[in-house]
Amino acid sequence: MTDRIINHLQKGHPAINVGKIRTIIGLLYMAILIIGAQLSVEGTGNGWVFVNFQIFAVVFISYFLQLEIKFWQMAIVIVAFMGINGTLMIPLSWLFAGIYVGLYFAMKMVKQHQHRAWNNFVAYSLVNLVFSAAMWTIMKFRFDLHPITVGWELLFSFFFMTITFVYIDSVRAGANTLAQLTYTTNFDELTHVHNFYAYKNDFSQAFEHAQRHQNPLTLMLFDIDHFKQVNDAYGHLTGDHVLATVSQMIMQELAVNDVKLQLYRTGGEEFTIIFANYTSTQAHTIVDAIARRIRETPMQDTDATFDITISAGLTQLQSTDENQVDVYRRADEQLYYAKRHGRDQISVG
Ligand code: GH3
Ligand code: MG
Ligand code: MG
Repeated sequence: MTDRIINHLQKGHPAINVGKIRTIIGLLYMAILIIGAQLSVEGTGNGWVFVNFQIFAVVFISYFLQLEIKFWQMAIVIVAFMGINGTLMIPLSWLFAGIYVGLYFAMKMVKQHQHRAWNNFVAYSLVNLVFSAAMWTIMKFRFDLHPITVGWELLFSFFFMTITFVYIDSVRAGANTLAQLTYTTNFDELTHVHNFYAYKNDFSQAFEHAQRHQNPLTLMLFDIDHFKQVNDAYGHLTGDHVLATVSQMIMQELAVNDVKLQLYRTGGEEFTIIFANYTSTQAHTIVDAIARRIRETPMQDTDATFDITISAGLTQLQSTDENQVDVYRRADEQLYYAKRHGRDQISVG
């Protein structure tokens, strides 16, 4: 829910401080908790029924949501509420507040020092049990509860916390796997730039958008010149290193010019850039800078340096283009024109 609130707020104000919102939400949760705690101090005779819920809420805030609440912020909220309720003078009230604050920081520590899942679960359960036992011991005397009731409550708390831990752990693992899959589906392992799959999706979108809004769109294909010779002379590993280095150089160059521009590895030593909202003349300037940078940067092998160059084909969307393949084909023809006419050049058409 916290993330949803933050997402919602971010839509209106992109520059919003996420950390601050998390703190505010955390403090609100804390305030609700303290109201509950005060109810049990004022003694309706049933005040103890909320204890497990309160323990759970503290663990949720500190361990699972990892909301950042500073000690002094917590202290202000606690004192303010106790003042409003007139329980400032009741020592038990302070004891409850102390136990919840202790639980909050103990759980935070468990989260920060987690190493292996199993150790982590043991630490999590131990902290839960110690603080729950402390709380329930007080409750037992205050409300004169039967020991069996207390035992059941503790057991219930333990099972509930375990289920939450296992469930949230599996949800997190699922989310991580999904994030990893999304990355490997869209990015190239060697160069860490977008892959052919991402190119296909992005270009299809850019093509439709440009046609619908009559915006310019330019596609650039380029291929490293005589790359086979690099592999033959220095080995495949150096070849891989060159591909990664070239990719990084281009990414830097694009970032300097326009952060929206993306690089795609669409073949072995063949790359593509989609210039949305660029005429071919505008894109040419950036492509020139890229080609120059590659030409002027020596590549490193263990005991040699060598130069590489690229050939590029550039084309702009035309009104006669029916689909994205028409644009790709023209860019490819231009690339081969550049190759046939001596390489290390950019051909536009
Ligand atoms: P041209 O100037 O005509 O492009 O010549 P070229 O040698 O670059 O072209 P060619 O298509 O004959 O060779 C491309 C080479 O790129 C062949 C292949 O071994 C190499 N290559 C493709 N992918 C990779 C890769 O991931 N790593 C390495 N090291 N080499 C690769
Ligand atoms: Mg090549
Ligand atoms: Mg090639």
